[in-house]
Amino acid sequence: MMKDPIELVRKNILALAPYSTARDEYTGPIGIYLDANENPYDNGYNRYPDPHQKALKARISTIKGVPTENIFIGNGSDEAIDLVYRVFCEPRIDNAVSIAPTYGMYKVAAATNDVEFREVQLGVDFSLDVEGLLAAADENTKVMFLCSPNNPTGNAFPDEDIERLLVNFGGIVVIDEAYIDFADSEGWLSRLARYPNLVILQTLSKAWGMAGLRLGLAFAREDIISLFTRVKYPYNINGITQKIVIERLGYDMSEQLAELKEQRGKVLKKLSENPLVRAIFPTDANFVLVKFDDPRGVYDRLIEGGVIVRDRSKIKGCEGMLRITIGTPDENRKMLAILDGMAAK
Ligand SMILES: *Cc1c(COP(=O)(O)O)cnc(C)c1O
Repeated sequence: MMKDPIELVRKNILALAPYSTARDEYTGPIGIYLDANENPYDNGYNRYPDPHQKALKARISTIKGVPTENIFIGNGSDEAIDLVYRVFCEPRIDNAVSIAPTYGMYKVAAATNDVEFREVQLGVDFSLDVEGLLAAADENTKVMFLCSPNNPTGNAFPDEDIERLLVNFGGIVVIDEAYIDFADSEGWLSRLARYPNLVILQTLSKAWGMAGLRLGLAFAREDIISLFTRVKYPYNINGITQKIVIERLGYDMSEQLAELKEQRGKVLKKLSENPLVRAIFPTDANFVLVKFDDPRGVYDRLIEGGVIVRDRSKIKGCEGMLRITIGTPDENRKMLAILDGMAAK
């Protein structure tokens, strides 16, 4: 079943000669840069940033235990999602398969790339329909998007299910691990070398606390990573982001992570005691999906109290549900107090 992933690549992409930046040929010590039409007066930002993000990749390689050749750095995970389509999917011919409900960007990026997007509904307990996903694929299905732990449902999918898809689907399997730091399972990074068709997405936007800097990661076989690198904009990660991310990757996030997980437990417990709550779903992420009889009423009341949550109640499979992010202890207390006040009426 499994093809060489390079056979799945669009022909125009395979034939692409990469744009070479002004400084690509120069490897000697710092000289006088008259090659890139920059303003020569140093203000900290007058030079183009490193298009290969060498220092940043080295740091991420150490933290993740993955060679730099297997790492792509994007302007958010959204850039990597878009690149998956641009590299593998021929517009109007190829298609992608994914789960529903899930993260909206897979579908949006499919649409902007004019690629058909096939959704396979999760079970009522949000379990993966492995047979359904395989059945939805045909000879033009190049990519399958999975998200584990899944947004907005919160659950991580069992390894056995994902492995069956990796082995039996003949295209690229993308596993979006945006929330993996909040999960008990370790994720797929250490098994990257075992599956030639595996692309893992991670991000610094969630557990690492750097959503404002825009930095997403893709991990895959070296030849897939080089294709992403060839197609990306040369200076996709700006200089400030590269610098500050390297700095912030030196911070130990374990205390915050532990507190967020502890808070998640407390929020789940308090919600389960609230009579307005119809159901709460198991979560491996930093949010919880909660079902109410009157989700809009609850949403509006929270807004009145200055708390905004995500209304997912119109989405198929999420009827009646709001997605609530775990905040600081104080923020969570205020959110829960509003719900308690509403239930007491
Ligand atoms: C938040 C989120 C991301 C992060 O996207 P960035 O562009 O890296 O900020 C990616 N995937 C999922 C499923 C998410 O929920």
